[in-house]
Amino acid sequence: MRTVSKTSYDAVVVGAGPNGLAAAIRLAQENLSVLVVEANDTIGGGARSAELTLPGFLHDVCSSVHPLAIGSPFFRRLPLEQFGLNWIQPEIPLAHPLDGNRAAALYRSLERTSKELGADEGAYERLMSPLVSHWENLAAEFLQPMLHLPRHPVQFGRFGLPGLRSATGLARSWFSDEPGRALFAGLAAHSFLPLERIPSAAFGLVLGMTAHAVGWPIPQGGSQQISNALASYLKFLSGEIITGWRIANIEELPKARVVLLDLTPRQLLRLLGDKLPSGYRRRLENFGYGPGVFKMDFALDGPIPWAAEECRRAGTVHVCGTLDEVARSEQDACNGEHTEKPFVLLSQPSAFDPTRAPQGKHSIWAYCHVPNGSTFDMAPRVEAQIERFAPGFRDLILARNAENCADLERKNANLIGGSINGGANDLWHLLARPILRSAPYRMPIPGYYICSSSTPPGGGVHGMCGFYAAETAIKDAFKR
Ligand SMILES: Cc1cc2nc3c(=O)[nH]c(=O)nc-3n(C[C@H](O)[C@H](O)[C@H](O)COP(=O)(O)OP(=O)(O)OC[C@H]3O[C@@H](n4cnc5c(N)ncnc54)[C@H](O)[C@@H]3O)c2cc1C
Repeated sequence: MRTVSKTSYDAVVVGAGPNGLAAAIRLAQENLSVLVVEANDTIGGGARSAELTLPGFLHDVCSSVHPLAIGSPFFRRLPLEQFGLNWIQPEIPLAHPLDGNRAAALYRSLERTSKELGADEGAYERLMSPLVSHWENLAAEFLQPMLHLPRHPVQFGRFGLPGLRSATGLARSWFSDEPGRALFAGLAAHSFLPLERIPSAAFGLVLGMTAHAVGWPIPQGGSQQISNALASYLKFLSGEIITGWRIANIEELPKARVVLLDLTPRQLLRLLGDKLPSGYRRRLENFGYGPGVFKMDFALDGPIPWAAEECRRAGTVHVCGTLDEVARSEQDACNGEHTEKPFVLLSQPSAFDPTRAPQGKHSIWAYCHVPNGSTFDMAPRVEAQIERFAPGFRDLILARNAENCADLERKNANLIGGSINGGANDLWHLLARPILRSAPYRMPIPGYYICSSSTPPGGGVHGMCGFYAAETAIKDAFKR
């Protein structure tokens, strides 16, 4: 066993991703002794930053844009600003370029967004307005296990009717013009679902709603700063973190009353397989992960020369073109194909945060969806898509970093086959994450809990999986 300060703890958490750290904080808030054990030499899991291209160019290793972190009901209650976290709100949260030097833009202002959608002004306003005005209640409903009685049934119902549709169905019936349709398709494509499938529209609605309600901010200094602030606060609460310790055998852990695992089902089977009842084991074996991603980072000699001016002022740019093109790209990735014209999610943090690149230079983060486990080199296709909407982009590239699914999984064992959300996002996996229960965090071995994004509410940097897992453990072991 490594050197730790105690022979036994109230709680040990395996994995220092946002959910592991959130779980540890919630436990430490109850004055429990907590140890977090992390395999990598740096904390943060999916919320880390590093110089991946050239010295002085700071890139986000995984997550980059954080509506779910700033809107997280748990993180919002923590004094993270006092522990070094500063949010930066880009002038425009999201732009979506189209051919012909134009772009749809999602502004913080619902009114302005609607207005600039021209023919679809009224439609956008009618779709989003009821959601944005109740976003706090709605966020609380989504960011918890799906199997619950809604506390705000009317507002939830208003969301549920359009949300339970396919993104293509909703976009085509609701919007008459391409900018509105393409903008919504890009939002919904974060689901990793074919856009013809339900509930892809729900992802579009939630992400659109957050852009207006809380923005799509970036942390000053990169997503590592979210993890660092969480870790500093945990230490302030007397929690301990040890890095560089990959748990290969559950017996390695120091004694603890509860063990919370920021891991996905595949890893849980490896660590605990022989201890699990066969029915539960089978369900974990059948857990699906969905498509993976191909990730790229660029060091640029200047800002991306977007043809559409709105893209230059946006933190995030969805690069693909029309609704049909986005739908095709997502359909291909889900069908096991490497699409010719990928939907590229791109963040340009150095345009708003000077700490990310040397003066006058820029650091860019981008990824596209690919079949799970892919080792195919999508770099030329990603670059061609950016060049299509920003002629001259390629000439600015000083250095690039490209990572396929296997590379990503090597860096973070939770990214199974390059899947970034801890599991698939289809209706079944949203309900049964990883199994169908109202408290899916509790494992069928006393004292063991899952706290990763393979539990509700799923992927993203919000810490709510960790929060609910910790609440379950506290109720079971410390409040009887
Ligand atoms: C390329 C990419 C882009 C993304 N973009 C965004 C974004 O812009 N916004 C957003 O909100 N989310 C984004 N995400 C998703 C987000 O990063 C994850 O949903 C989130 O990090 C999940 O948190 P977690 O704590 O469940 O798991 P993770 O963050 O994956 O943390 C798990 C931790 O457990 C550790 N671990 C694994 N096995 C062991 C072991 N055996 N022993 C000890 N430690 C172990 C890992 O090293 C890791 O640190 C992105 C992810 C990726 C990969």
